[in-house]
Amino acid sequence: MKKPIGLSSVIGLFICLMIIGDPERRRSGSNVDAASIDVDLLIVGGAVVTMNGDRRVFENGFVAIRGADIVDVGAASELKAKGYRQKRMIDARGKAILPGLVNTHTHIPMTLFRGIADDLDLQDWLTKYIFPAEAKNVTRDFVAAGTRLGLAEMIRGGTTTYADMYYFEDAIAEETKKAGLRGVLGETVIDFPAPDNKTWEAALSFTESFVKRWKGDSLVMPAIAPHAPYTVSEEHLKAVKAFAEKHDVPILTHLAEAPSETKAISEKRNTRPALYLEKIGLLSRRLLAAHVVHVNEEEMEILKEREVGVAHCPQSNMKLSSGAAPIPRMLELSLRLGLGTDGAASNHDLSMWEEMDTAAKLHKLVTMNPTVVTAEQALEMATIGGARALHMEKEIGSLEAGKRADLIVVDLGATHLTPMYNLRSHLVYAAKASDVTDTIVNGRVLMRDRRLLTLNEEAVKTAARRYQKQVGESLRN
Ligand SMILES: [Zn+2]
Repeated sequence: MKKPIGLSSVIGLFICLMIIGDPERRRSGSNVDAASIDVDLLIVGGAVVTMNGDRRVFENGFVAIRGADIVDVGAASELKAKGYRQKRMIDARGKAILPGLVNTHTHIPMTLFRGIADDLDLQDWLTKYIFPAEAKNVTRDFVAAGTRLGLAEMIRGGTTTYADMYYFEDAIAEETKKAGLRGVLGETVIDFPAPDNKTWEAALSFTESFVKRWKGDSLVMPAIAPHAPYTVSEEHLKAVKAFAEKHDVPILTHLAEAPSETKAISEKRNTRPALYLEKIGLLSRRLLAAHVVHVNEEEMEILKEREVGVAHCPQSNMKLSSGAAPIPRMLELSLRLGLGTDGAASNHDLSMWEEMDTAAKLHKLVTMNPTVVTAEQALEMATIGGARALHMEKEIGSLEAGKRADLIVVDLGATHLTPMYNLRSHLVYAAKASDVTDTIVNGRVLMRDRRLLTLNEEAVKTAARRYQKQVGESLRN
């Protein structure tokens, strides 16, 4: 039944129309709406893939950004009525606008070890190449140079947030802040002399200074990163837990990566890797665990219960023959599940596009079921899922008003994307890192029309080639 319109409603509507309809009033500085119509950046005309709760897509949409925040997302047809006055505009017609990709596990300076050794058993690869190369080459300057190289690659590929575990993590934080990316950056602590700290005590004191320096930063979230349950003692793992609670920081670690780890923990602790961490109190919402390949139903349910973040690294797991994580079951359980590239030494690149594609295909193969890990789920893991794994889903991972302005623009005009019946399946199965044209983090444009604005790419590559020579020579000696 139609409801009669009351007099007060009519008067209210009339006043509203007077305010909205008067262009002079809208543009005058005295207007109360002035602050809300001034925006710093308006991206208009592309397909906006919001990844919000309804997974809404605006075929021809816009995103409005003020300062570090997204203030509005909607259909381009509404823009005229909204009357935004923007300082800058990006025309995204023929493109897609997505939340920036979240790489939940990497070791960014290892870009300088890209392709150092391949097609080897994990132990040979580690003991004959990686450990000697690290011992002979990793310095603060090496880490800074490798970080710049990785940052350039990630900005080009549309990654806007990454979680990292390495040494000299304060140098990584400095470079990340300068280049403008968002990072959850964990200083690695391990029970043998590391390139930056030779003892456990020195490592903890270094990590404390690092955490105090970066805590509260708008882009860098400092963390502590015990290498793995088999390389850090029980006593030290408990010290890490106490440290993380005292300083209120995340813990990043490798967990249940390979069968050799299950064997080692079983022999020494008479239990399984994830159950061991549960027993000593490490499993909590503070923890981001990478790989998590060898877990059973009981362990997955505990991970869910404890709200542990999981970084699935399919390409690294394949290249090192670590195994296939039970991702279809983790998705059913709604674990906090993201994707990670792992370091470039074990994966060659930091492309989240390849990781999405691989994640969707690998589990179809190992389960012989083509319906598991859909394109939609792979895209979720790379965006809002990654944000959930980092417990940052209130700030990043989708395009919604009130969240940080971390987003990317992807050109849909390439030959390998033509024709297009389904945008989401193309994004996962056909798009490449090189299709990203613009990368924006915290409202700052880091790449415009495929041009990096915060890094000198030629200088970054020259420094990397210099280190390649040094690393090569160090392995021959
Ligand atoms: Zn790793």
